Amino acid sequence: MPQAPATVPAPRTAAETAPAIGAADVDALRSRVHGPVYAAGDEGLAAEVFAWNLAVTHTPAVAVGATCAADVAAAVSWAVEHGRTVAVQATGHGPVRNADGAVLVTTRRMQGVSIDPVRRTARVEAGVTWEKVLAAAAEHGLTGLCGSSSGVGVVGYTLGGGVGSLGRKFGFAADHLLSVDLVTADGALRTVSADTEPDLFFAVRGGKGNVGIVTSVEFELVPVSTLVGGGLFFDAADAPALLHAFRTWAPALPEEASTSIAVLRLPPAEELPGPVRGRTVVHLRYAYCGDDLAEGERLVEPMRGAGRALLGGIGPMPTTAMDAIHMDPRDPMPGWEKGMLLAELPAEAVDAFLAAAGPQVDVPLVMAEIRLMGGALARQPRVPSAVAGRDAAFSVLVLGPAVPELAEVLPQVGRGVLAALAPWAAPGCMVNFLGEVSGPAEVAAAYPPAVAERLLAVKAAVDPTGVFSHGYALDPAAPAPAVPAGRA
Ligand SMILES: Cc1cc2nc3c(=O)[nH]c(=O)nc-3n(C[C@H](O)[C@H](O)[C@H](O)COP(=O)(O)OP(=O)(O)OC[C@H]3O[C@@H](n4cnc5c(N)ncnc54)[C@H](O)[C@@H]3O)c2cc1C
Repeated sequence: MPQAPATVPAPRTAAETAPAIGAADVDALRSRVHGPVYAAGDEGLAAEVFAWNLAVTHTPAVAVGATCAADVAAAVSWAVEHGRTVAVQATGHGPVRNADGAVLVTTRRMQGVSIDPVRRTARVEAGVTWEKVLAAAAEHGLTGLCGSSSGVGVVGYTLGGGVGSLGRKFGFAADHLLSVDLVTADGALRTVSADTEPDLFFAVRGGKGNVGIVTSVEFELVPVSTLVGGGLFFDAADAPALLHAFRTWAPALPEEASTSIAVLRLPPAEELPGPVRGRTVVHLRYAYCGDDLAEGERLVEPMRGAGRALLGGIGPMPTTAMDAIHMDPRDPMPGWEKGMLLAELPAEAVDAFLAAAGPQVDVPLVMAEIRLMGGALARQPRVPSAVAGRDAAFSVLVLGPAVPELAEVLPQVGRGVLAALAPWAAPGCMVNFLGEVSGPAEVAAAYPPAVAERLLAVKAAVDPTGVFSHGYALDPAAPAPAVPAGRA
């Protein structure tokens, strides 16, 4: 799902107040890194900073095409010397706002992937997308906990938690991180693990890019090679029956099963199959990674019978084919999105969802999705992390095309759908689904209060001036939130 540019306040070290950067300064940076460096006005800058989400056009002061951890460290040090903030981009699937006036480090040249089949681990550099990891791990009967699209970057996804089709069985992708190589605001490259840097290890798993730029990650793989998975597209007229069936069926599933259901308003695009092209449909997504694949197929039967399927299929598939479960778009597009968590999904909540986003209403949303949470997603890993979203029964995500004609109405409609579900909300939000945010306070509110408190303390210690004030940035000077009694 494309993410959105957000109305985050300007960085703490705003471009207009930072000292001007001269050609000699940029040349000095060029001499310190192996990759290309582009300054504002240079040919090649636009291509270097191109974001998958077309709603964002980065206009950094300087872009550094990092080829290695040393390049990242040099770029961060140089940025700090010149009073600039630092942003990072791998694919541009999740830019939060334009990295205006910043030093933007692009990581897509950092493509190393190595699998250790004995330890069942992967070591992956910062620019790698999931498809590469899935293919390499599959050679050993293993896989990684990727999300709905394998075109998304491993690092950005994982630092935000990372909820995917095997999530209820194995938890968030971040739960499986073993160590992280991280460049902090002082320009130091640190290897961060539970033993070496416990506070940073807590913060980087869920805190997204708040504590630095990750140059590589090492994480556990899981022993799955085949699953039962896929999606079914249903006639929009059956939306009430399908969604009411989903709300009782989904929570009764075992942890081996993950699922979501979405109302999709599909464009009349040639590449879409005839039965769904240009239509509003209900899309059921399903994955089962237990040993008994026949059981996985049997479990989905009640939903097959809940509506008229137009297209799709659910059956055994290799892990390398998991994109077929959600069928997310691969080509870049402009997206606005916003998510929330639900504590429960009673019949009244389904009715409210249908009234706000169902096929009968005329709204400019491409997708309104309800995803089942719980299972291992609800449990802290052995070493607790800052991942947000553990206490929810479901998550909701609304998404629309971020085009100028809809600039005003889309956020109103999207937020309106979430407001309609407010009576059943769980606190916080998964960071990867925060979408548009009003500023650092809204980012902090995504986390349980005690998590936000520790995260802010780590941010204040390692990035006191807000060098990393892009992405879902926390304010290092913000007071810690009050922790209500009984919340951990
Ligand atoms: C089509 C689509 C499907 C998605 N499906 C899922 C899903 O199923 N589950 C889920 O959890 N999320 C999902 N997401 C959200 C996605 O995980 C986030 O948008 C993620 O941040 C994308 O990472 P990226 O590197 O590809 O994007 P980028 O735009 O390159 O990076 C986004 C942000 O990630 C952080 N980041 C990236 N690289 C680094 C680094 N090296 N060091 C520090 N911070 C870094 C930064 O904050 C950066 O602003 C989806 C997004 C899209 C567009």
